[in-house]
Parts: sequence; C-alpha cells; structure tokens
Amino acid sequence: MGRTGEKIVEARGVSHAYVPGRPTLQEVSLDVAPGELVAIVGENGSGKTTLVRHLNALVPLQAGELVVAGISADDPTHVWELRRACGMVFQNPENQFVSSVVGEDVAFGPANFGAGEKDARLAAARALADVGLAGFERRDVHTLSGGQQQRVALAGALASGPDVLVLDEATSMIDPQGRDELVRAVLRARSERGTTILWVTHDMELAARADRVFVMRAGEVAASGAPKDVLVDRALLEGAGLEPPFAVRAWEGLVARGVASGPAPVTVEGLVSALCG
Ligand code: ADP
Repeated sequence: MGRTGEKIVEARGVSHAYVPGRPTLQEVSLDVAPGELVAIVGENGSGKTTLVRHLNALVPLQAGELVVAGISADDPTHVWELRRACGMVFQNPENQFVSSVVGEDVAFGPANFGAGEKDARLAAARALADVGLAGFERRDVHTLSGGQQQRVALAGALASGPDVLVLDEATSMIDPQGRDELVRAVLRARSERGTTILWVTHDMELAARADRVFVMRAGEVAASGAPKDVLVDRALLEGAGLEPPFAVRAWEGLVARGVASGPAPVTVEGLVSALCG
C-alpha cells in the first residue's frame, strides 16, 4: 500500500527507443498519488503501452528515472519486486492465463511470490469474490465469456496484492456488459484495497471518470490534468488523434444552438445534471 503524501509512481524524463535513433518515448514525466485513478489516452503508436510496461519492467528503463512503490526501475535486480508492486491486465484475456482452471490461474501469482498453497488459495478466493466471480475456482477459463475472462485476469493481478494496477486497453475486446462489469470490479479494487489504477484506454467515457488524464502524443505527454479541464479541449484532443467524450460533444451542440452555456460536463451523469439541474 502506498504511504500517505508520497507518490506511488514517479517517472522523470523517461525516454525509450526500440530502434536506436528512433525514440518511442521522449522525456516522459508523470507522478501518480497512491489510490489515484489515472487514464492514459492517445492514438495508436503514441507510446502508451511502452510507457506503462516500464512500470513492471516488461520494458527495461533506458533513460530517465522511474520509481514504483519506492522501487527504482533503474536496477535490473529489482525486476521481481516491480512485478509484485505492479500488476497488469492486457487487451486479450486469452493470452494471460497460465492455467485453464480459474482457481489455479488466479492462485499462480501469490504462489509465485512465495505464498504457501493455502494462503495462495485464500488470496485467489478473495480476489475472485472482489471481481464478482466467487465460486468460479473449478471453472475452465475457456468456457467463460470474454468479460468474465478479463475479470479472471484482473483477479489474477489483484491476488498478489499489487500497489499499482495497470490496465492496457483491457476493455477493447469485450462486450459493453463485460466492460461495465470490469470497470465496476476495478473501481471496487481501488476503493476496498486502495490500489492505484493506471488505465490505458481509447474509451473517453472511461477517461472522463478518472481523477486525472494524461494525453500522449508521439511519445510525449501532450497534456495532463483533471478530465473537466483536459477532455473539453477539442484542439488538444484532435491534435492527439482523439475526440472529446459524448457529454462534451453533446454540450457543444447545445451551446451552438444557444440552449446551454458554461463549462461542458465530461460525463453523461454530469450532462444530465447540467440539463436537469
Ligand atoms: P500505443 O500503446 O500508444 O499504441 P506503443 O507503445 O505500443 O504505443 O507503440 C509505440 C511505438 O513503438 C509504435 O510505433 C510501435 O510500432 C513501436 N513499438 C512498440 N513495440 C515495439 C517493439 N517491441 N519493437 C519495435 N517497435 C515497437
């Protein structure tokens, strides 16, 4: 768990080039407070995945400084500690399982990090309950829906008790119901476990619900701030290959017709209360 007042993720001037001389990330700096929900948005190829994969050393730090939960990523011997501090859920649920049996898959992380069999099983049961899949231990992952599979993957990440959870386009291959259930499960993990969330997403409605949004463009952080400031800036978003969330677009239409005025709401709930309140 993060310590109050400290940053749980601190990146300073992180740069990365897969091919020498062709930088994918350039001088990226980002601070995240414990328990924050941060959305990272940007068009394909803007460097989002490369950035977040640094957090658990899937991409090694080449330049700059990165500290996750007090662990510095510049020391290759810290890989294991970083993997424990930062859990990841990826885009394709099917690529993430180490066992086809749900309970074994979810218990793998804690067992791998040294928990005894009973504790690993308890951690798995708790994580499955947290994602709304209590009692699914004996199920075969291949018989589950994509949304359920993503929640198994989430449980697998949570079972090791990470400080930071990274979701990289985790909703892009599942249906809207699966998406909503995953979002709910992540928000519950955040409120009940205090897990810090970094959510890479194309979903601007999801970004609107974050505490802060980072906009990536061509390997750099083009802007960061509260959704109400960042997601209403059409020029900024369009420059990054994005469009504002639905509420902002609807609000702009109402303003153009002279039936609304003032700052745009960024969520549908905000739009409804602006119109009805
Ligand atoms: P995003 O997540 O925003 O789509 P990525 O971090 O996946 O961006 O990719 C950024 C750039 O880095 C892209 O041009 C991509 O082709 C390149 N890239 C990503 N992974 C590799 C790799 N393993 N080797 C070489 N180039 C890569």
